[in-house]
Amino acid sequence: MKHKTTRRTFLQAGIVMPAAGLVSARSPEVLLPKPLGVVYRTLGKTGLKVTPVGCGAGAIPDPDILARAFDLGVNYFDTARIYGQGKSEQILGRFLQGKRDKVVLASKTYSNTKETILKDIETSLKTLGTDHVDIYHQHSRHTPKEITDEMIEAMELVKQQGKTRFIGVSTHDPNAMVDFILNVGKFDAVQTTYSYAIGAPFRDAAIAKLHSAGIGVIAMKVVIATATPGPIPKENHLSNEAGLAAIKWVLRNPGISTTVPFAETIAEVEINVRAMTEEFTAQDEKILFVRSEEIRELYCRMCFECKGKCPKGVPVADELRILAYNDFAGNFHQAREAFWDLPREIRNIRCSDCAECVIKCRNGVKVRDRLIRAQELLS
Ligand code: SF4
Ligand code: SF4
Repeated sequence: MKHKTTRRTFLQAGIVMPAAGLVSARSPEVLLPKPLGVVYRTLGKTGLKVTPVGCGAGAIPDPDILARAFDLGVNYFDTARIYGQGKSEQILGRFLQGKRDKVVLASKTYSNTKETILKDIETSLKTLGTDHVDIYHQHSRHTPKEITDEMIEAMELVKQQGKTRFIGVSTHDPNAMVDFILNVGKFDAVQTTYSYAIGAPFRDAAIAKLHSAGIGVIAMKVVIATATPGPIPKENHLSNEAGLAAIKWVLRNPGISTTVPFAETIAEVEINVRAMTEEFTAQDEKILFVRSEEIRELYCRMCFECKGKCPKGVPVADELRILAYNDFAGNFHQAREAFWDLPREIRNIRCSDCAECVIKCRNGVKVRDRLIRAQELLS
């Protein structure tokens, strides 16, 4: 069958590249409280030295988890204006008091006019309790037309004003964005989806292109596909050994500067950071291969091959990604919030009205079943 992966093809899809671009010196700018002998990476031409495992603050971060990550030497913290409707920046900001100069801090704006972008950065800085972030991203942009000249001008202005040191784009579809980003020539960093489940075949070329051009690449959605999928939030916890293996898999790619895995417990943070110093093993590979097959019908690999193919206009990969926030990360609120951010006419489409789905997923996802679940659960 077209979507079937053999252990051999899974192996071949992995990355075995020299560790170019790695930096072994401690950052002159960012001094860590308890360094672990970690090999730092350079975030592209920004020159920022970052720990390969960062900390995704997520919608409503737990201060104890942030503290544990920091104590273990993690120096990269990622948030966004819209996470938790501002709560993420609020909690992270409180946590960072007295530590701001010891971390590399990234936030994002989902705004699309000059006026609202400039307003957003002011709100973010006030909420985070700092006078600048290190990286300020345009949030969740999947086609070049979503980033206008006006938005680029505003992002540059934020940089010129010293409110961010660098600017970036976060995207779930780097293939659609890479040439645009390189042609614009203004962005310093890209945050993108990358994991064992959505990695090598769909992402490596774009990541290599960005890396060669000096754009720092930050990997997100690194561990989500290692969760044990199930319909009941909170029983849907992460598999720790699979999570560790998944981060190690991502870090084999020297084009990735850092990662922003989420953690729901202190134990998960402690496991995540081990990926910075442990080798990817044959056992890790086996764990990921098994998990990849377990989630085959459920987890969208974000290859975007079905983009624009639903005649009714369902953004298939987007709705499936949103469902994964619930089914894989156990976060119903984040999933519902993201679903309700879709335009009303999109939210109102019901896949149950189709006798058959025109989309035949090359990766084996049961598209119609999963979309019906998303629409029934989240609308
Ligand atoms: S549903 Fe299948 S084809 Fe569509 S983006 Fe997801 S993995 Fe790719
Ligand atoms: S079931 Fe129908 S509406 Fe849903 S994605 Fe498939 S073709 Fe589109």
